[in-house]
Amino acid sequence: MQKRTNTVLEQITELNVKDMKEKRCQLVEENAIIGQKNPKDINVEGDTCYNNPIFNNETTPFQAGTIATTTFCENNTKSKKVIGVNIASKVCIIGSRLRNKGKNVTCPNHHGKCTANISPDAVIGDEEKWSASVAQQIQSEVKIVGYTGDGDAKSHQGVSRVTQSKVTHMKDVRHLGNSVRRAVNRANFSAGMFRGTSKCNLRNRLAMSIKQRCTAELTKAHAVYNGNLNAIKKKMPKIIDTIVLCFKGYCGHSCKTNSLVCCGNYRQAKNFMPSNIKLKMTEADELSLIQCIGIMLSPNAIENTRFLTSTQKCEAVNRAYQAVNPKTISNPRSFSGRIHSQIHNLNNGYTRSILLKSKFLGASLPSRSKVIRQMLATDKRNRRRRDPEVLAKKKLRRFASRRQRYELHEKKHYSSGLTDIAPSLNWAKQMQDHNYV
Ligand SMILES: [Zn+2]
Ligand SMILES: [Zn+2]
Repeated sequence: MQKRTNTVLEQITELNVKDMKEKRCQLVEENAIIGQKNPKDINVEGDTCYNNPIFNNETTPFQAGTIATTTFCENNTKSKKVIGVNIASKVCIIGSRLRNKGKNVTCPNHHGKCTANISPDAVIGDEEKWSASVAQQIQSEVKIVGYTGDGDAKSHQGVSRVTQSKVTHMKDVRHLGNSVRRAVNRANFSAGMFRGTSKCNLRNRLAMSIKQRCTAELTKAHAVYNGNLNAIKKKMPKIIDTIVLCFKGYCGHSCKTNSLVCCGNYRQAKNFMPSNIKLKMTEADELSLIQCIGIMLSPNAIENTRFLTSTQKCEAVNRAYQAVNPKTISNPRSFSGRIHSQIHNLNNGYTRSILLKSKFLGASLPSRSKVIRQMLATDKRNRRRRDPEVLAKKKLRRFASRRQRYELHEKKHYSSGLTDIAPSLNWAKQMQDHNYV
């Protein structure tokens, strides 16, 4: 199979590059059909993944990541097709073999076949460069007007540099939420704010609760005000004050009137913070908490998250890459071919992708054959897995097991590991009051 991969990888890459181009043209056509003023304008989300951890494990001083894959997905349609990819690789077996023999060679400029396309001393985490490269690839067909990234400002810069026009930089709500959590964990609260023996645990729980609460208020506000940004911005200051009051232990009238998600009964909201604990906050504490919340609910942040876009599709694609390129195995030669093959699979579906690939390689499958029947059966199984009914059942099961873990946590007072905030015992009732849990 390894040999076969090496034989076909160039053709598969060619097929997928062509296919992605077709997808981009299709997008423009669809935009024209629905009457968009500039059919070429599209929104995209982008993310980069590394074939091994970018963080050093403190055993070596050099960078760990050796292959970086940058993916752009369109954010215009529901299917969110992959429309561009860049693979930056440092891995070259021939180069390292020659170097081991004492020859002075630098990848990718040596004799013979080199599988690396950047030099060994290049920065593998240069997301600006990789994003610029993908933007360059796709710019003949489409024009990026909105870009959602994971909060790394560099990839934004890369996109802007290539398009040479104004690109709106949107932020992902989930990543912003994590910033809020980190900010609360780092904030300079007064010593008396958390009491008791498990101060760290409490602070951590407050951080997670604030994150969840902010995310919930924001998404709910979008639903209630139908995406009307001005109305949302006008409402937010009151909501922020209410959140602070709620966590201080004064949950009641203010929550009932101002909060979009807290019904005004702190006892029922105890899955946030333990109900018997009241935070003793000074004025300075309140200010720093408001500052943390502002990361997500300030007018500026609301502007940046206005379409509630995320990079979740890109992250899903990254996980799909891992299926063909496991982190434990490096495939220096076939890495990019495998990536392109997987993108083709994701964009066209399992059966269609295989049929197109085999046709392109000149080995069409006979119609009505057993193989095709088998593939159609697999397709049907996959569709069944995505059925809303099946998904709902799975969700219930997840909730139940999470609840069990949470109870265990309560009982044993684990301070690390099990940190999911789960609905408490009467979760079914809570779901109605706090439908964001
Ligand atoms: Zn090389
Ligand atoms: Zn409340």
